Amino acid sequence: MTSHEIRRHFLDFFRSKGHLIVASAPLVAKNDPTLMFNNSGMAQFKDFFLGNGTPPSKRVADTQKCLRVSGKHNDLEDVGFDTYHHTMFEMLGNWSFGDYFKKEAITWAWELLTEIYQLPKDRLYVSVFQGDTKDNVPFDQEAFDLWKPIVGEDRIIYGNKKDNFWEMGDTGPCGPCSEIHVDLRSPEEVAETPGKDLVNADHPQVVEIWNLVFMQFNRKADGSLEPLPARHVDTGMGFERLCMGIQGKKSNYDTDVFSGTINVIEELSGKSYEAGKGMTDVAMRVIADHIRAVSFAIADGLIPSNAKAGYVIRRILRRAIRYGYSYLNLTKPFMTKLVPTLADQFADVFPELYAQRDFVATVIREEEISFLRTLGTGLVRLDQIIGDLKGAKVIPGETVFELNDTFGFPADLTALIAREKGLSIDEAGFQKALQEQKARSRKDATSSAGDWIELAETDKIEFVGYDQPEAYAQIVKYRKI
Ligand code: ATP
Ligand code: MG
Ligand code: MG
Ligand code: MG
Repeated sequence: MTSHEIRRHFLDFFRSKGHLIVASAPLVAKNDPTLMFNNSGMAQFKDFFLGNGTPPSKRVADTQKCLRVSGKHNDLEDVGFDTYHHTMFEMLGNWSFGDYFKKEAITWAWELLTEIYQLPKDRLYVSVFQGDTKDNVPFDQEAFDLWKPIVGEDRIIYGNKKDNFWEMGDTGPCGPCSEIHVDLRSPEEVAETPGKDLVNADHPQVVEIWNLVFMQFNRKADGSLEPLPARHVDTGMGFERLCMGIQGKKSNYDTDVFSGTINVIEELSGKSYEAGKGMTDVAMRVIADHIRAVSFAIADGLIPSNAKAGYVIRRILRRAIRYGYSYLNLTKPFMTKLVPTLADQFADVFPELYAQRDFVATVIREEEISFLRTLGTGLVRLDQIIGDLKGAKVIPGETVFELNDTFGFPADLTALIAREKGLSIDEAGFQKALQEQKARSRKDATSSAGDWIELAETDKIEFVGYDQPEAYAQIVKYRKI
């Protein structure tokens, strides 16, 4: 089954169950000050759960473009190192706004996965919320009773609040969820370790594919729960992971969702993609992933810039350029060349990219030209700096600042490269130098105009490292394989 067919079957299936199929909301969240990017299917329906506004139908389904690179959900550091977290991904979802509840949600999910998609039943596990006495939330007996005759008790996992309870905030609608996980390992591996033991254990072939959220409570300000008058269903299924499962692949990147783009990266770099080959394949995954996030974000109206959402997009693009430069020897603009393939691939699903493909390619090319210039000089200077350290393990904050200020070489990138060489940067020292410079530029801005105003604008930049310390552990972990 091709990825196109997989997506179409999802929408057809829920249409046949009385759902209205709606369009994806843009990647950039509109009218929601709490959210920079849409990071789940339900984001565009939030108001309906809060009782503000009326949904177009009580049953809705769609595929939503999601971006998880900021805030509560930030998967950026895993992308490329693992094979199943993306920056941008499609979340397939079905919703009931005060209409059907657990019984239908559970039976339909199972019917779709095992009958339409033919995923083997003995490779699926489901989780139910185990309850939390401290927080006053009961065990989800109802979901357990529904799943038991379908999957058998030994395929049910009891999940904690982190994985199996959804809440919008400290107060408001909330409820338990059931996740569905699939075990895609070889029979030999399965014989060795039961799949059940690997659920939620970061195993690349035992992955969560679908989350069914049952909103049934309202949490009051005093912390107590009351039943919601109208109960809702909110589900989200990772499309790329689903494709991996159905197509029998070991990685999302081996599916036809990514193969077109990876082929072009292979052509451009003259290297072949083969998982487990170290940084070459990491770089190819990073690029194949990031080009989607960046292209669709631009098509949805965002321009790479120095502030807020635009800066996040710029950082994602630069992360990809840097990996291409360092590990694939791609020293001329290459990301821009991936846009046509992507635009063609998604023309009938998300036509906004196809319609603006030339514009998107131009924006990316301009960014690449300017960043590649910076990168070349910055990397040479950084090498000198590291040589001058003479065995010391920390790059001084002043030096990081100088690289940033004089060469336009971003500090988060310095940190990333330093980590790859077993070094770190003096973050506090860098922040101090930055603050001092800000104070200087503010002072100057009051007495002069022009350029200084530019600088003052960069004050809005929020420094968020490329890779957190945990991610370094990941780099080390994955390099060993
Ligand atoms: P995980 O535990 O794997 O990080 P999650 O529990 O954070 O996933 P949910 O918020 O439950 O994910 O989102 C619903 C579904 O979206 C998941 O079951 C998964 O299939 C998919 N998904 C979540 N994050 C990503 C991502 N970064 N890339 C691709 N698919 C994702
Ligand atoms: Mg997650
Ligand atoms: Mg999870
Ligand atoms: Mg989940």
